[in-house]
Amino acid sequence: MDRYEVIIIGSGLGGLVCANTLAKEGCKVCVLEKNETFGGCLRSYKRRGGIMDTGIHYVGSLDKGQILNQYFRYMGILDKLKLKRLDEDGYDIINLMGKEYKHAMEHENFIETLSHSFPGESRNIRNIVYKFKEIGDLISLDTLRNHSKFSTSVLPYFSISAADFLKKNTSNANLRNVIAGTTVLCGGEEENTALYTFSTIVNSNIESSYRFVDGSQQIADLLIASIQAHGGVVRNNAKVSRLIMNGEKITAAEINHEEQIEGDYFISDIHPSTVFEMLDKTKIIKKAYISRINSLKNSMGFFTLSLILKDNSFPYLNKNFYYYEENNPWVKSDYAARGLRKILFSTSPSSDSGLYAKVAQVLEPMYWHEVEKWEATSVGKRGESYKEFKQERAEKLIQYLEQFHPGIKESIVDYSCSTPLTYRDYTGTKQGSAYGIIKDYNNALICLLPCRTRVPNLFITGQNNNVHGMLGVFLTAMYTCAEFTGTEYLTKKIANA
Ligand SMILES: Cc1cc2nc3c(=O)[nH]c(=O)nc-3n(C[C@H](O)[C@H](O)[C@H](O)COP(=O)(O)OP(=O)(O)OC[C@H]3O[C@@H](n4cnc5c(N)ncnc54)[C@H](O)[C@@H]3O)c2cc1C
Repeated sequence: MDRYEVIIIGSGLGGLVCANTLAKEGCKVCVLEKNETFGGCLRSYKRRGGIMDTGIHYVGSLDKGQILNQYFRYMGILDKLKLKRLDEDGYDIINLMGKEYKHAMEHENFIETLSHSFPGESRNIRNIVYKFKEIGDLISLDTLRNHSKFSTSVLPYFSISAADFLKKNTSNANLRNVIAGTTVLCGGEEENTALYTFSTIVNSNIESSYRFVDGSQQIADLLIASIQAHGGVVRNNAKVSRLIMNGEKITAAEINHEEQIEGDYFISDIHPSTVFEMLDKTKIIKKAYISRINSLKNSMGFFTLSLILKDNSFPYLNKNFYYYEENNPWVKSDYAARGLRKILFSTSPSSDSGLYAKVAQVLEPMYWHEVEKWEATSVGKRGESYKEFKQERAEKLIQYLEQFHPGIKESIVDYSCSTPLTYRDYTGTKQGSAYGIIKDYNNALICLLPCRTRVPNLFITGQNNNVHGMLGVFLTAMYTCAEFTGTEYLTKKIANA
């Protein structure tokens, strides 16, 4: 029977970053992935020559000296990434009921650009943006090194509402809506989005915004090459079906209900509810604790529409477009019933299409109840009614886009769609949620799960623990790995990379 020091369940960003860190630091690691393709939400797929991303469209803080740049440098893959920096003077365009506003890169530029649209609000914009920066700067190596800083400096911002913070800082509702114009990246819901989540994501994109040329799968591929170069093992088609316990500890992971792989430690990059369900009966984890985790709400999902475009017919646009059919960017579970669109539209950069785009993507919030009637179905076998549902949604979206990007309809040669059902079946996320457990500001202490669990050799990582997205998942992975290496040691290694 194979035996490893650390077994990692799931090859999403969180799992791969943990595996690479621990392998680099000398541990014998093994990553187990249920799918054929590694990467979870990092996955890109090819269709008619176009490369579509499934879960990373743009990320922030990649300029030299910024935190993700430092993390990728430590991963040993920074110089191999194919990156495209978005337009400085408007990386995000917020279009509220036909009127456009720009989010510009770098803090002073952001303030100045928005102040042009909101003369008289300059001081308020400055206060808001510098608060985002203060909170965003807490994602630092110093906070990683110093655990007590997390509870004193970070935790309080998890307990404040992002929307209330904006209300306190400006009475101009339109300005608030423009600043909250990228809220779908943060979870989208006014009633639970924490100031910490909102600020770290928005601040990170203000620092610098980038896309991955030819798709985000490159991150998974590069991390896997590094894990293997450091003696680690990655296995696909290896679904963990049970965690075998002896007394208080896990001794082995059972994969595909047949094979057992022994390990000293286990890191889960999958939903905590799922991993606790896999544990053999143990007295350490009480039923009440599992019920509490199961009762935590998960974020909304997305309907994604990936358009394949005719060669040289539609320009590559080096910015993202957020379109709102009402003067309110926040979403709720009644999103579909209201019938007012809130979408993110972007084109994908590819190394061989020059000034033109081969692929464009639309993300629209979608809640589980919209697809629940097909919950008993699996990929490719959901029936005609599901196909019609997707087709109708796709065609309405294309019609909607045509008014902002005339000619796009003509440029489309093919398209594909996904719904929360796709994500439920592909990454195993609960109810197809895009970002996992909501870190609800009303309930921060309950929603924020620590990396350590009550099983002494089981750790959790990934988007369910702290903030979701590239930055949040990287940060959590560092916290998880610090449990093995020690914070002082790991912080020094990252700083000196
Ligand atoms: C549509 C969409 C768009 C997004 N856009 C952005 C963006 O532009 N920028 C950004 O920063 N973030 C974005 N995000 C969020 C980001 O993609 C995620 O927060 C992040 O990638 C999650 O990583 P993870 O490692 O926590 O989980 P996942 O990527 O979900 O990985 C979990 C892995 O575990 C595997 N697994 C599950 N069960 C088992 C099992 N039993 N055995 C073995 N393996 C198992 C899954 O197959 C998967 O590979 C987006 C998310 C979505 C859904």
